[in-house]
Amino acid sequence: MSYAYDPQNIFAKILRGEIPCSKVHETPHSLAFHDINPQAPTHVLVIPKGPYVNFDHFAAEASEVEIADFTRAVAEVARRVGHAESAGGAGYRILSNAGPDAHQEVPHLHIHVFGGKFLGRMIKVPE
Ligand code: 5GP
Repeated sequence: MSYAYDPQNIFAKILRGEIPCSKVHETPHSLAFHDINPQAPTHVLVIPKGPYVNFDHFAAEASEVEIADFTRAVAEVARRVGHAESAGGAGYRILSNAGPDAHQEVPHLHIHVFGGKFLGRMIKVPE
């Protein structure tokens, strides 16, 4: 397995502080911020701070500490924005695109957290 990480991608620039973001949550190994083009009332992106292109790269090469930190950061965001049922909310959806068939635009692993309205059933695939 080999994964090529492009350090000039936009989320790497956000992590280096070269581009601003609207931060929601930060941990030692993860950062969460509002998506610049929200697709739901809540649309937050959660990224690991390490250089991983997608979920399978992260699962293969991240440390146990990074994986635990990132997993918990995603859940904390769902609670923090108020959509987790454990926080009294009505639910949320998490999604991560990897590669061209999934229309991944930014080649740094990110989990989308959507919520704040009824999201319908899963995904609509264009013809
Ligand atoms: P993908 O298609 O790779 O799963 O999603 C990339 C997401 O990054 C898109 O939802 C897009 O709106 C968001 N995005 C792209 N550039 C920026 C940026 O500079 N700042 C923020 N906050 N989000 C961005």
